[in-house]
Amino acid sequence: MVGVDDLTCPGCGEDDNLSGRRDGDPGQPGAKSITVTCGSCELSWVRDLAPRCPTCGTDDVRTALQSIVEKSRGTQLSIQSMRVVYLCPTCDPERLADWNQTNSPMRPAELPHDVD
Ligand SMILES: [Zn+2]
Ligand SMILES: [Zn+2]
Repeated sequence: MVGVDDLTCPGCGEDDNLSGRRDGDPGQPGAKSITVTCGSCELSWVRDLAPRCPTCGTDDVRTALQSIVEKSRGTQLSIQSMRVVYLCPTCDPERLADWNQTNSPMRPAELPHDVD
């Protein structure tokens, strides 16, 4: 069981120099998440206060990182940021195993397409 003070930066492990901003959408009173920004590596991510698997509903999910690739000028793809995703051992065992093995950010689900 983890508490609310287990907060560490998934990018660099910083657990002190973090700032959080509660996301408040007036239209969604049920939304419970905080955007956390690491003062050491400037990674920011959304911390879901009660992450659940959207497929089976379990709260026994694992935190992992996924790269967000945004298209930049020209043909180069550059990894600009990362986000935290939650992997369900039941519904997403392959990606979870991959994450556990490499412990490096997962590739984006899909690369951005050229859009004119
Ligand atoms: Zn960090
Ligand atoms: Zn699941």
